[in-house]
Amino acid sequence: MLVKDRSKSLRIKKLEVFQRRLIQNHPKLLPINDELGGRLAGHHGEQSNDYFLKPFLSKGYTVLHDLRLAAHDSFFQIDTLLISTHYILILEVKYITGTLHFDHLNQVIRVRDDGSEEAFQNPIYQVKRQRSHLTDWLSRNRVPHIPVHSLVVMSNPRTIIKSLPSHKDIPQYITHSPYLQERIQVFDKMHSVEKLTKREITKLSKLLVRQHTPDNPDLIKRYQIEEKDIIKGVYCTKCFYMPVVRKHNTWVCPKCSKKDRNLHLPSLEDYALLYGASITNKEFCNFLQIPSRHVAKRILSNMNLPHTGGCKGRTYTLPYL
Ligand SMILES: [Zn+2]
Repeated sequence: MLVKDRSKSLRIKKLEVFQRRLIQNHPKLLPINDELGGRLAGHHGEQSNDYFLKPFLSKGYTVLHDLRLAAHDSFFQIDTLLISTHYILILEVKYITGTLHFDHLNQVIRVRDDGSEEAFQNPIYQVKRQRSHLTDWLSRNRVPHIPVHSLVVMSNPRTIIKSLPSHKDIPQYITHSPYLQERIQVFDKMHSVEKLTKREITKLSKLLVRQHTPDNPDLIKRYQIEEKDIIKGVYCTKCFYMPVVRKHNTWVCPKCSKKDRNLHLPSLEDYALLYGASITNKEFCNFLQIPSRHVAKRILSNMNLPHTGGCKGRTYTLPYL
């Protein structure tokens, strides 16, 4: 059963807003596009790995994607968690292009097809740390003892792994997506004792979802973006033209002629990603470039948003984040 699905992270969504709304030739566009490209490749890699897990969803395994849980003084993230009645398996999904070399110092070097080299975080240490964080989390939350395993899954079939024969833990900890099914069957054979009942698994899944805390990084600060760098207005979801104009109670794109009464909604999500979920009528007019505050008020009240404050200075809460 799939209990928690994967969605684009707030970090990716925020980077996409920058890409859409930063003024032309902004000096931060290049590093932003670089970061976004890498993170989207990782996201698609995780999605493609989900395909190999599909057979297990109907076989009594519980699957949760994208979890971020509290450790003692920080958080730890899990790409995919597979829970059976006998054991728990953590999957760390990597989409890597090129060749990964594990050297005699346990360093990992990625060599791209163009020959450029780059140091890489050792994914085996990473999954070992995740395993220890999760084991602590389970005992802190009084979950009955259950074995926890972890595995690095390479979701790009073209990733080559090179290592010295002394690295015996590489085949134990790293696999490619198409072999995941076989690896899970090996774990199944290793554990014959039931540790959690179906009821306990349901309880555990609910607890994991409840304690999941999405990462919400301050990218405006990180990339030092100023308000004047952001293009305002409603954007067209078909051709990405901005600003779309308001005519006869609807939005009309001057470039592709798309008409949509609710075209302000995706742009309001952009606002929430940039500045947070609360918005006043004045901020609404300013960001969406609506010249009339009466029109703005009508659109806002039609959205039936929760709000605080009287008629003047009313603050609305946007349903995003
Ligand atoms: Zn358009």
